[in-house]
This record gives sequence, C-alpha cells and structure tokens, in this order.
Amino acid sequence: MSGSGGPAGVVVEAAPAGSGPTPDDWAAAESLLRGLSADARVLLICHVNPDGDALGSMLGFGLGLRSLGVHRMQATFPGPPEVPEPLRGLPGLDLLVPAIEAYPDPELVICFDAASESRLGELVDRLDTAGAALVLDHHASNTRFGGVNLVDPRAAATSVVAEQLLSRLGVVLDAEIAECLYVALTTDTGSFRFEATTPAVHQLAARLLATGIRPGDISRRVFDTRPFGAVRLFGEALGRARLEPAAAGGRGFVWTWAGLDDLARHGQRPYVLEALIDSVRCTAEADVSCVVKQTTPAEWAVSLRSKGGVDVSRVAVALGGGGHRFAAGFTGRGTVEEVVDRIRGQLDTAVIPAAD
Ligand code: 5GP
Ligand code: MN
Repeated sequence: MSGSGGPAGVVVEAAPAGSGPTPDDWAAAESLLRGLSADARVLLICHVNPDGDALGSMLGFGLGLRSLGVHRMQATFPGPPEVPEPLRGLPGLDLLVPAIEAYPDPELVICFDAASESRLGELVDRLDTAGAALVLDHHASNTRFGGVNLVDPRAAATSVVAEQLLSRLGVVLDAEIAECLYVALTTDTGSFRFEATTPAVHQLAARLLATGIRPGDISRRVFDTRPFGAVRLFGEALGRARLEPAAAGGRGFVWTWAGLDDLARHGQRPYVLEALIDSVRCTAEADVSCVVKQTTPAEWAVSLRSKGGVDVSRVAVALGGGGHRFAAGFTGRGTVEEVVDRIRGQLDTAVIPAAD
C-alpha cells in the first residue's frame, strides 16, 4: 500500500501516502447526496485555472446528478470565468456560472480536484456558508478540508473518484457524462502514458468508450489543436530554455519562461501555455523540468515535473503550492530569476534516494 511501487523516502503529506477513502467516507458521501431534498441547491466548484480533470470531473459528475433529478445545480470556479478553448466542447457547460453568480449559501457544495482551500480562491467561503461540504480529489497533499472527504491519492484522476461515486448512486453512464470523464482521465494520465495508468484506468476508459464517444475527435480537440500564434510562441519559449545538468544532485534541471508581453505579441490567452511543459519535460538530460508563466506583472504560475528522481510536490509545498510527487506547481513572486533561484534552493532536498 503506502508508497509501494515507488522509490523509498520522501513523504510530504500528513495523511499516509496511498490511503484512499474508507467505507465510512463512501457511505457519508452517498448519504449526503441521497439525503438532498427535491429543491436543494447544489454548488459544484473546481480549482482555479481549471484543467481537463477539474472541469471534466466536475461537469461529468454534475450531469450524473442531473440524471438523478437534481435540478437546482450550478458549477463554477474561482477567478476569470474563462473556459480554455480546448475544453469548450465539453458537455455540461450549461451548468457553468461565473463565480460571482454562484449560490451564496447552497445546501451542498462539492469540490473537485482541489488539493487545498487556497485552490478555491474567492469561493472558499462556501465551505462555511454551505449546509455541507464534500471534497472529491486525488492529490496526496490534499488537506481534507471538507466535512466529508473522498480523497484517493492512488486514483489517476479526480474523475476516477467521481465515477466511483456516480456508480454507487446508481447513475448510468451516457455519452455526455462519459466524454467529460474521459477528457479528465486522459488529461491526468497524459493520454495513458503516466505511471498511474493501471489496469483499472483502462477498464474505466473501456466503460466510457462503450457509450459511443469518439476518442480521436476528443483528443484532437483537447490536446492536438492550438492557434498558429501559440505554435510560434512555443518556439520562442523553447528557444530560451536553459539546461542545468548539475542541479538536483546531478539529475539535471531544465526550465524556461513566458511573459505577458510574449502572450500579447502573439495574441494568445494564458491557457495556451499549459501545454508548454510537455515539450520542455522531453529533455533527456534533465529529471526536473519547469515552466514559469507570468500571470500578473509580479506573479508567476510555476509548473514542475519530474521523471521520478525528485519529489517536486515537496519543492512546490515548500514554496507555497502543492500537487503530486512528479507533477506540482506554485505561485511565485518577483522576477523569473528570483523564482527559479528559489526552486534551485529546494531541489537538492527533494531528491529521492535511489532504491537499493
Ligand atoms: P500544472 O503544472 O499542470 O498547473 O499543475 C500540476 C499539479 O500541481 C496539479 O496537480 C495542480 O493541481 C498542482 N498545482 C499547480 N499549481 C498549484 C498551486 O499554485 N497550488 C497548489 N496547491 N497546487 C498547484
Ligand atoms: Mn487532477
């Protein structure tokens, strides 16, 4: 169980690594949902700057609840109410409302893919104003901030947890629910390439595909389409990437950055930079990769990845963020060099000792 299969050593989270929801947790979540009155208002929230797992698990779960007769329901996320272009084909987008319009005091709030309260931004007060709070997540660093927490660090995506709960509630998967959950699953497994891609992940994918959804169309839309301006912007950002072979105890560190003026020059929205890390992390000579993305003049969204030699969630947590062992992030302040300096300062202590 705990940590099995992975290299020995670094544990950053308070709860034992790998421990999923208990039977009592599942029962409590089920009774919250089964106990809703016919007119109950349900608010679904996913994390700021939502990705495919955040939006896909939230909307898929929302469509599932709707099929059970829940009719007063909103889905939302903090920050600008902008859905990244690749996710604008998701079913269930009609559930979305801007954060400012979200029910102030719903009977139930359900949070998706958010490891901590800070990921809920200005919507964090709903944890107090709602009648009950349910958390669905898969981050090992999750702080269990709900009244009921379904947190499974072994799950490849939050959508895995969402589908399990839908199944317990007796929801029959249709193509719309399945498309949302499939986008979430493929996003967080890197299209079934990452270590978390277990037999159970493929079995879930099989159940989703059996509803008739079209994986080729979905993948092209979500992963393989970007504006020409973004292609050129990626070229520039990759052109200034730096490789530091001695960093991270000799495992190597590669990083680059993109600023607001880069986005403006190429006429691009910030979300196009989410995919940049996938080109940087290919670097053979580095275990750790990083992209520093400017969000305001003095703030940067930092993405960190490791190939398995460094616990980057430890780096991210030390710098105020969170995530998974090999995919994490945080918000950095100051100049790019200052942000990268702080990362360098954490890399050595996050190196995972080689297993004997
Ligand atoms: P990404 O680099 O794709 O934005 O994020 C990688 C992982 O790190 C995701 O699991 C994401 O939830 C987490 N993450 C990214 N940025 C932050 C942050 O600022 N705070 C926390 N707590 N987690 C983050
Ligand atoms: Mn996720």
